[in-house]
Amino acid sequence: MKIAIMGAMIEEITPLLERFKEYETVEFAKNKFYTLKYKSIDITIAYSKIGKVNAALTASILINRFGAQKLLFSGVAGAVDETLHIGDLIAADSLAQHDLDITVFGHPYGFVPESKVFIKSDEKLLEIAHETARALNLTLKNGIIATGDQFINSREKKEWIKKTFNANAIEMEGAGVAFVCDALNVPFFILRAISDAADAKAGFDFDEFLQSSSKISADFIIAMLERISI
Ligand code: SAH
Repeated sequence: MKIAIMGAMIEEITPLLERFKEYETVEFAKNKFYTLKYKSIDITIAYSKIGKVNAALTASILINRFGAQKLLFSGVAGAVDETLHIGDLIAADSLAQHDLDITVFGHPYGFVPESKVFIKSDEKLLEIAHETARALNLTLKNGIIATGDQFINSREKKEWIKKTFNANAIEMEGAGVAFVCDALNVPFFILRAISDAADAKAGFDFDEFLQSSSKISADFIIAMLERISI
């Protein structure tokens, strides 16, 4: 089986590379892809760089060039849901693009013709994630992740995204990955550990918690692999 694990930033994949230690590096499309074998799984790890375009490009490459049959995303996000605190895990059950706006033509936010507002994550991978959480005695919440090419650090903007998409968390890549995987029929799972509350102090919190939250997310993805490989 071939599995891709991606993040957006180097900090998000560093705990994975440190865990696996031995890998080969392949350069392609001005990016680096790390390939390795773990038990019976061929794994390719990459970070896309920030934003939906980079995320969509990397997801496409992981699938088309590296043959990924499942894609797992590990990273950090801003909390919208008040019950999510720094370090908490959230698994996307669906994702939308909060900055996609042709509403002047009568369409809802996040919608363009022949597409949809929300893309759903793979149910089997979500189940595996919850089995993993139970086994590790960790709390894993499912929710809606809203993605856009903006770092959100305002209560007002965050409230708008919450109201419009019923979102639990916000970040800058998930929906890009989800749309690519959906179009190419590849099961995907998007996990985020909270790094900030997308409020006025989000910039400070993000810098302080990027590393620790990235590790929480990456460790969970590694634990999930044990169950995917069985
Ligand atoms: N400090 C970085 C930029 C980080 S952008 C630099 O200078 O290069 C924020 C990253 O973390 C994105 O990849 C996004 O997916 C995620 N993220 C975390 N909190 C977020 C928030 N409040 N709003 C949007 N994205 C957030």
